Amino acid sequence: MKLAGSPASKIEDLKRRLKIGVLAVQGDFAEHISVLKTLGVETQEVRLPQHLEGTDGLIIPGGESTTLSRLMTIYQLREPVCQMARCGKAVWGTCAGMIMMAREITEQDPAPLGVMDIGVRRNAFGRQVDSFEQDLSIAPLDGPPFHAIFIRAPSIIRVGPQVQVLAQLADGRPVAAQQGKLMVTSFHPELTRDARLHQYFLALSSKESPALAE
Ligand code: GLN
Repeated sequence: MKLAGSPASKIEDLKRRLKIGVLAVQGDFAEHISVLKTLGVETQEVRLPQHLEGTDGLIIPGGESTTLSRLMTIYQLREPVCQMARCGKAVWGTCAGMIMMAREITEQDPAPLGVMDIGVRRNAFGRQVDSFEQDLSIAPLDGPPFHAIFIRAPSIIRVGPQVQVLAQLADGRPVAAQQGKLMVTSFHPELTRDARLHQYFLALSSKESPALAE
């Protein structure tokens, strides 16, 4: 489904009915909330399991995955988030959030949630000084390339048969992927003014949305 190609009235209607949760225990959740607000969507900061009630989708932001993981355990958020993914709600992990969504990672720590059939390597592009920006062609998005910001980013090193790669670097490494209504990006779309990926996630979060981009 190409949201950009949907009639404007339908997009407005979609936004009115959606409530998107953003995991707010650590990392750059405020930036995601601010993009969602510019799109006119109701948001919910998620710090406790009950904050997930009534949400149509969840964003797990970038930050530090070991801290995210520890806090998710302390606040008993792991199982409710897994449940949300299992029951077909949309969940989007960016950067550290992508690490949390993976089935397996190459490091000992953290223990990922395992909800998406991908393998991930943390800090795959080097240390902080090696953070970089790259224009990417992202399969379901219309328009110009997406300016992607990578900060101590993870990379996807394995994709399962149900996973669709949405974007890759010139060397072929996938940096955005989708499995049904689950989506991951290695980079930080909330740090740019381009809200197309957030709009795409809103389309995924709507109940009528088909599970895979066409
Ligand atoms: N390198 C971080 C980690 O391993 C992720 C960085 C980020 O989210 N920007 O958790």
